[in-house]
Amino acid sequence: MEDYRVPYEALLDEIRNEFNDFKIVHKRTDRLSHRIDRLLCWVTLGGQREYLTRYHTVLGNTLYVPDGWDSTPYLDRIITLRHERVHLRQRRRYGGIGMAFLYLIPFFPLGLAYGRARIEWEAYAETVLATAELKGVETARSASMREYVVRQFTSGAYGWMWPFRRQVDAWYDEVLAKLDRQVSRR
Ligand SMILES: [Zn+2]
Repeated sequence: MEDYRVPYEALLDEIRNEFNDFKIVHKRTDRLSHRIDRLLCWVTLGGQREYLTRYHTVLGNTLYVPDGWDSTPYLDRIITLRHERVHLRQRRRYGGIGMAFLYLIPFFPLGLAYGRARIEWEAYAETVLATAELKGVETARSASMREYVVRQFTSGAYGWMWPFRRQVDAWYDEVLAKLDRQVSRR
């Protein structure tokens, strides 16, 4: 199996060049992350219980990582970093307050958080593109990958942020179409 440690380190360097104070913090050893975990679990009525164990979160220029980050294959860490780099750029684009407004305020009411859904979609589009590049177009096109991404929007994971499956499916189709255009240009 190809070792992706070098490209992983290169991507980290790239991100540090773009965001000087970028750093990675493990949620498990971070008190703020534990507080957010309890709050999210409560607000989503238990829909989000995996904040510490599964989700990556950008706050400021810090990436908070869940358990198992250090043993995650470099390839998957690259795909995650590509997604999170989109959030770092969004924060630069909208500013900290603007990002908080888009991300947190529309959190209420749960389930109709269009601003968050679009922010998150931009990042998941990058996840799909990075997956196609690194794991092959077939993986990006697979039903299981689509299901995983769509569920991030329609389930309690992010507070049912956009529970309209057909629309999220249509977004996914757009990304795949873009992918096909890129492939056919090569
Ligand atoms: Zn995200």
